[in-house]
Amino acid sequence: MLLALACAVPALAQQPPYDVVIANGRVMDPESQLDGARFVGIRNGKIAAISATPISGKTTIDAKGLVVAPGFIDLHAHGQDDENYRVFALDGVTTALELEVGTEDIPGFYKNREGKALINFGASSSHIRSRMVVMKDASTSLLPTGPGGKMVATEAQIGEIRRRVEANLAAGGLGVGMGLQYTPAATRYEVLEMFRAAAKYKAPVFVHTRSFGTKEPGSSVESFMEVIGASAITGAPVHIVHLNSMSLESTPKTLAMVKEARDRGLDVTTEAYPYIAGMTEIASALLDQYVGAPDSVVHNLMLVATGARLTRATFEAERKKGGSVILFLNTPEMEAMAITSPLTAIASDGLIEHGKGHPRTAGTEARVLAHYVRETKQLTLMDAIRKMTLLPAQRLENVAPVFKNKGRIRVGADADITVFDPATVADQSTYQQPALTSVGFKYVLVNGVPVVTNGVVRDNVFPGQGQRAPTR
Ligand SMILES: [Zn+2]
Repeated sequence: MLLALACAVPALAQQPPYDVVIANGRVMDPESQLDGARFVGIRNGKIAAISATPISGKTTIDAKGLVVAPGFIDLHAHGQDDENYRVFALDGVTTALELEVGTEDIPGFYKNREGKALINFGASSSHIRSRMVVMKDASTSLLPTGPGGKMVATEAQIGEIRRRVEANLAAGGLGVGMGLQYTPAATRYEVLEMFRAAAKYKAPVFVHTRSFGTKEPGSSVESFMEVIGASAITGAPVHIVHLNSMSLESTPKTLAMVKEARDRGLDVTTEAYPYIAGMTEIASALLDQYVGAPDSVVHNLMLVATGARLTRATFEAERKKGGSVILFLNTPEMEAMAITSPLTAIASDGLIEHGKGHPRTAGTEARVLAHYVRETKQLTLMDAIRKMTLLPAQRLENVAPVFKNKGRIRVGADADITVFDPATVADQSTYQQPALTSVGFKYVLVNGVPVVTNGVVRDNVFPGQGQRAPTR
C-alpha cells in the first residue's frame, strides 16, 4: 500500500499543468473531421493534448460557445509588416505568406522579421522582382513600371534571372512567385525556364496569370493553359492565384480546367478572395489596357488614396503619380462560384499602407465565415475552415515539411489556433474604411502564445516565426 502511494505521487508530479488550456470549445479539425467539445492542452508551442475531459493549465482560456480551429494560413499576403500582421491576426490569420510577388532576397526577408513578427510569415523566390533587378527597372514599389515588365530578356538575361530565382529557392523560398500580367514581355520560354527552376527544387509556382477576359488571344482560358501547360511539361506544381479576379465571367471555365488537370494527375491548385473588386498599382502593366479607354470603362477604377472614381483624363494624370487603384470588375455570382468551389483555398491578396488599401486585407476570412457560412449557408463551417487551414498547408507541405504541422488541430501540431464566435464573427472593413478589423475572433494563438485575447490584439508580443523550405 505504502509502496503503491510512493509510486503514484511521482507519477502525478510528472504531469505538470499545460502552459495553456483552451477549455470547453467546439474543436473543429478539417483533417480528422473532429467536430466536438474538447480541452486542448498546449506545451512549448505545440498542441500536447486534445481531451474530452478537463485538463489543467497555467493559463486557461474559456472557449465555451466558441469554435476552436487551426489558425488560418493566408497564401497571398502582400502586407508583411506590423500594421498588416495586426489586422490579419484580428481576422484569425496566424501565418501570412507573400507568395505571388515574393522577394528577390529570401535571406534578408526572413532576417528582417525574425523576432519582430506578431504572426508567422514567409515568402517565395520572386521571378517578378529578380527580373526587375536584371532588367534594371527603376520602380521603387513592389511591381515593375519599365523594362522589368516590358522589355524582352535575352537568353543570357533569362539565364541570370533563373540563377537568382534558384539561389533564393536554395535559401529556403517557399516556391517561385510570378505575375505574368505584370511582366508581359516574359516570353513563354522564359516562363518554362522558371518552372524548370521550381521543378528542380520540388517547389510550387505561385502565378498571377498573363491575362483576363474572353477575347482571344489573351483570354483567361488561354492564360490558364499557359501555366498548366508549363506545369505538365516541367513537373513543377502550379498554384494559380486569385482565380476569381483572373477569371471573371470565365470562372466556370477556369474552375473546370483546374479540376480536369487535377483529375489527370497534375498538381494544380488555386485560391480566391470574397470580393468583386481587385486592387493593384496604377503604374503597373496590368493597367495598360485602360490607356485610351472610354470614361465608361475607366469608371470601374477607384483611386485608393482618395476613394474617387477615375475618368479617362484623371487616369492619365494619376498614372504618372503612382499609387494603388481598386478595380470593380467581377459579379457577386462569379465571386460566389469561386469561393464555394471545393478547389479554392481562401487567400486575401491583402495589403494596407497607413490604413489605406483594399477591405480584403482586414476582412477576407471573416467575410467568408459571416456571409458564405452563416448568412447564406453556401458553405459548411467545416468546409470554410478547410479552405483557410488544411488546403493551404497541404499546398506547401511537400516543399516545406513544417507545414505538415500547421493547418490542423492534432497532437504534435504547432499551436497556431483561432478561437471565434460563429454567431457573431463578421468583417467590418469597407472600400471607404479598409482597415476596420473583423469582430468575433476572441483568441488567436501563434506558436502557443496568445496574440489576440478577448478580441483585442496584444502589443509587444512577437511569437511569429519564419516558415521556409529547408535550405539546400
Ligand atoms: Zn495578383
